[in-house]
Amino acid sequence: MNLKGKKVTVVGLGISGLSAAKLLFRSGAKVSVTDNGNSPDLSKTKELLNGMGIEVEIGAHTEGFIKDRELVIVSPGVDKNALPILWAKKNGIPIIGEIELASYFCKAPIAAITGSNGKTTVTTMTGEILKAGGKNTYVCGNIGLPFCDVAMDARADDVIVLEVSSFQLAGTVNFKPNAAIILNVTGNHLDKHDSMKDYLETKFRIFKNQGKGDWTILNYDDPVLRGVGATFMTPVGAGRINPTPTKGLTSDVMYFSRFKKVKGAFIDGDGIFLNINGTGVRICSKSEICLKGEHNIENILASALAGSYFNIAPEVIRKVVTGFKGLPHRFEYVDSKDGVTFINDSKSTSVGAALRALEAIESPVLLIAGGRDKGSDFTLIKDLVREKVKKVVLLGEASSKIRKSLDGATNFKEANSMAEAVQYAYDSAVKGDCILLSPMCASFDMFRNFEERGEEFKKSVRRICDRPE
Ligand code: ADP
Repeated sequence: MNLKGKKVTVVGLGISGLSAAKLLFRSGAKVSVTDNGNSPDLSKTKELLNGMGIEVEIGAHTEGFIKDRELVIVSPGVDKNALPILWAKKNGIPIIGEIELASYFCKAPIAAITGSNGKTTVTTMTGEILKAGGKNTYVCGNIGLPFCDVAMDARADDVIVLEVSSFQLAGTVNFKPNAAIILNVTGNHLDKHDSMKDYLETKFRIFKNQGKGDWTILNYDDPVLRGVGATFMTPVGAGRINPTPTKGLTSDVMYFSRFKKVKGAFIDGDGIFLNINGTGVRICSKSEICLKGEHNIENILASALAGSYFNIAPEVIRKVVTGFKGLPHRFEYVDSKDGVTFINDSKSTSVGAALRALEAIESPVLLIAGGRDKGSDFTLIKDLVREKVKKVVLLGEASSKIRKSLDGATNFKEANSMAEAVQYAYDSAVKGDCILLSPMCASFDMFRNFEERGEEFKKSVRRICDRPE
């Protein structure tokens, strides 16, 4: 797309807004930026952009920054009823997100990954597979590095591995990845999406422009996604919400499954197999995998398929997936003392992720949970808590909601800090137990982010483990 000389405004000056502004500048567009926040960091960024000749307003939005523009780029997380969005709509100005913008400038093929849980793990693993297979690979998107940072420089024989959140997908229109993965769709961010239907429709934007030769990679074991692959939104099981039908899929659907020998990738006995052309190719044994939990088997199947789209040899895939040790804060083994194991799953900000963590643990669990509620239904985990959890140590704003939702299933104790929570859990543990931080909530009520929460957990664990007898 030629944006040279076009007047474009970026709404929101976070990491991706800044990246979009720089890319627009490079493309020769007349860029301006508006952000209603105010902080020393924003002032610094404003100065930097002003130095490049980019007009920036912070502290408030004014209509003059939108009215006569030809395109508006909206950052993920900007409310759809925010003033600049309403002004743009009133003036008939197209509104797109940073991913869409980047895709206009990107010559490299794209593997895009979305889902409620597992995106970062699969994005990282897919990136590792492609790099090991000799591809010059850019791993970007929601994982940290903005797509706009790399889109212009990537060459046609490079590969983009792109993690996309539903907020980022909401800003896409013509985005057309070559391989699109949806890992799972569980209720997540329901506080920010009008409904589950809205959430699913947003997720499905990842494949809506795909065509012949592209791969839509879906989790067969998820009834909603299985239905999508069959006829794109046929009715699925009772109680599941279906989005409105729009069109049939013309891409090649590749499934992954832990239970059925599908076209795509599957488990048979202890073996992990790819089946692209009707012939099963063994990748490795489940017992060779370092990662724990069946959810990580799903992540491996999905990543192997993505690698396979780019013709990476099975032996290369094998080497990467068996050697992959996992990422910090995602079901991360921390330490053990006197037979009590500590696991840091701070990135578990949804009930779905905590469910998978509990399923992956065979011993009795002392669960540390709580934080800022994302509109989750904690009763979904009640049966598993009854079966596996000896005690829930509650932390943060969601404590009383979690306690009410799980009432009768286990014992509770409230803590005021992470150090206290870990100590309470340890006091109640006996040899063979597992202490799991899997909060099911965002961290912002007590911490800057999930990383800080996880580090605080690890520090508290170390204090206990290093204490002399
Ligand atoms: P995301 O980027 O989607 O948040 P991550 O890979 O960062 O996903 O993992 C977030 C949380 O979800 C962690 O608690 C992790 O253990 C859990 N998780 C990872 N993969 C899956 C999966 N396939 N299904 C369910 N939970 C998962």
